[in-house]
Amino acid sequence: MVRDTKYYDSLEVSPNATEGELKKAYRKLALKYHPDKNPEAGDKFKEISHAYEILSDPEKRHLYDQYGEEGLSGMGGGMDAEDLFSQLFGGAFGGRPKGPRRGRDMVHHLKVQLKDLYNGKTTKLAVQKHILCPKCEGAGGKDVKKCEPCKGQGFTVSLRQMGPMVQQVQQPCAACQGQGETIGEKCTQCNGKKVVNDKKIIEVHIDKGMKDGQKITFAGEADQGPGIEQPGDIVIVLAQQPDPNFIRRGDDLVHEATIDLLTALAGGQFAIPHLDDRVLLVPIAPGECIRPDMVKTIPHQGMPTYRHHDFGNLIVKFKIEFPPANWTDNDTIKKLEGILPPRPSLPSFGDKHLEEVSMQDADPKQAARASYPHPMDIDEEDEEGQGGPGVQCAQQ
Ligand SMILES: [Zn+2]
Ligand SMILES: [Zn+2]
Repeated sequence: MVRDTKYYDSLEVSPNATEGELKKAYRKLALKYHPDKNPEAGDKFKEISHAYEILSDPEKRHLYDQYGEEGLSGMGGGMDAEDLFSQLFGGAFGGRPKGPRRGRDMVHHLKVQLKDLYNGKTTKLAVQKHILCPKCEGAGGKDVKKCEPCKGQGFTVSLRQMGPMVQQVQQPCAACQGQGETIGEKCTQCNGKKVVNDKKIIEVHIDKGMKDGQKITFAGEADQGPGIEQPGDIVIVLAQQPDPNFIRRGDDLVHEATIDLLTALAGGQFAIPHLDDRVLLVPIAPGECIRPDMVKTIPHQGMPTYRHHDFGNLIVKFKIEFPPANWTDNDTIKKLEGILPPRPSLPSFGDKHLEEVSMQDADPKQAARASYPHPMDIDEEDEEGQGGPGVQCAQQ
C-alpha cells in the first residue's frame, strides 16, 4: 500500500508498475505533451518528467511509496525535464541538430527625432548581414568530408593525470581547426566560409506615438549560416534624440515658455511652434498674472497615443523675462507705485538689532552654488588645474 499515488497518476500507471512499464508510460506521455509538439499543454511535460525522475530511481521510489512527497524533501533539485527526455530518448523529435537551431538577433539602435514619433515616418536602412553562399549553397565547396581525427565533433578529448586525479581535457581539433569537416576543393566565392556578406535595405515604419526604446522586429532577417535552421530577427530599437522645445512624458509633452513681464501681468499671447507644421497661438487673459514656474495645460496637444486616435496634453511651464537692469526712470517708477499693489511692510523683529548691508552681483561661481541643491565645491575643482579630466570635458 502506497501513501500517495500522485506521481503514478501523472504517468497513468498503477503503483505496481514495473520499471519497463514506467518507462513506456513516460515515453508515450512525453511525446504527447512535449512543448515542441503540444505548446498548449503548459507544465504537463514538466510534471510527468518529474514524476518519472522520481519513480525510475528505486531509492526515491521507495521513499515516495513510504512517505509520499515529504519523504523526498532534501533530496536536491530535480533534473531539467528537457535534459531527462534527451538523455532517455536522444533529444526531441529526430534529434536536435548540432549548433544553434535559431540564429542570434541583430539589434540596431535607430536615432529618431521627437517629430518623427509625433508625425510618423518611414526610414530606409541598409543592413550588412551574412547569407548562405549562393554558389555552394552553404556547403563550403566540393568534396566536403567529416573530419576523421575528431569524428566531426570539432574537438578532441584527452586524459591528463593531475596527481591522483585523471582530468578530461577538451581541445579544438587541430586537423580541421574545430570545423568538424574538411573541404577538398574550397568554393571560390566564399573561400570555404559557407557564407558571404550581403547588403539589404529594410524599410522601418515608425508609427505615430511610438516610444523611445520601442522595438520594431523583422523576423528571420538576421544572419544566415551553416547549422542555423532559423535565422534570428533584425530588431530595430528606437532611440529618441533630445528635442530643443519639448520633453516627452508618456503621452504628454512639456514645453518651457518664456514670456515678457508685461504679457505676464497684463495679458497678450505667445506662440509654440509644434512638432508638425502648426504654430499654436496661446492667449493670456489680461490680469491672469502668470508667475515664474507656473504650470498650465493645453488639452489634446501632446503626443498622439500609439495605435489610438487620441492625444496627450501639452504642459506649459513659464519663465518670465524681466526688463533689464536700470530699464526705466524715476517718473515711471512713481507711476508703477501707483499701479502695482503696495509694498508690504517688513515684519516685526522684536528687539533684534537691525543692521543695514549692501549687495553686489554674484560672480559665476557664486551663482552656480545657488543653483545646486547640494553645492559642488567649485574651488576644489579649479585647483586640479587645466589638465584635469573635468576641465577637458567642459571644453569639448
Ligand atoms: Zn577535426
Ligand atoms: Zn561558397
